[in-house]
Amino acid sequence: MRRTELKQDLLTSVHFLFPSVCMLCGRVLVKGRNCGEELLKLQVCSSCLSQFPVRLSTERWFPCLSDPFEEDPIPDMSVWALFHYETPVSTLLRRMKFHSKKYCGSLIGELIGREFPTDVPFRWDAVIPVPLSEKRREERGFNQAEVLAKGLSEHLDVPLCNNVIRKIRHTKQQSRFTEPAQRTGNVKGAFAVDEKWDITGWNILLVDDILTTGATMHEAAKILYENGACRVFGAVAATHRENGEE
Ligand SMILES: [Zn+2]
Repeated sequence: MRRTELKQDLLTSVHFLFPSVCMLCGRVLVKGRNCGEELLKLQVCSSCLSQFPVRLSTERWFPCLSDPFEEDPIPDMSVWALFHYETPVSTLLRRMKFHSKKYCGSLIGELIGREFPTDVPFRWDAVIPVPLSEKRREERGFNQAEVLAKGLSEHLDVPLCNNVIRKIRHTKQQSRFTEPAQRTGNVKGAFAVDEKWDITGWNILLVDDILTTGATMHEAAKILYENGACRVFGAVAATHRENGEE
């Protein structure tokens, strides 16, 4: 009993010395005042969370390609996005990617996991993050898509399979290209399904951070279908695109 009390005292002191602060505004988080139990865990205050640019629930699904073409072998590929690509979500995604702040991505992963629709008429077999090349993964220390995919995997209770798709050649950063055709060309043939996996008949949720022209996600989905996947849908944290479909 005494030991429990001592432990509790210690925890209280540690918490007093190192209180939780909101990762966005830096204010100390006080349960019942500026956050609840859940937000305390997520390290964000309710005021900052209320500013997240959440899309209307009827405007979260998009055709994968912003610039569809006639011979597309997978014209029905759809991608779900929870947020508009605006602050503070864009700030958090940039901090995760360019300043290696993984916890910024974990927060977004948790939020997309909570909101992703669960009323689908089939069972998901895997949540698969769009892979980075070995080189870029080493530079960053982690794959940002995998950080986000973890939230979806946990909430949907579906395995996170991070080595099903491999990036087999290094590509230039998509942001260097503005034309959809250039982006498609840049990622063409960049992915392969690892031969130790048999994904025949699988329903797959493919995850990335941002949806722009959709070229990267389209290429990754194509390779999954070529290897026998039954259904592939995409999920991203945010997109600049407007007019999502119901
Ligand atoms: Zn805050």
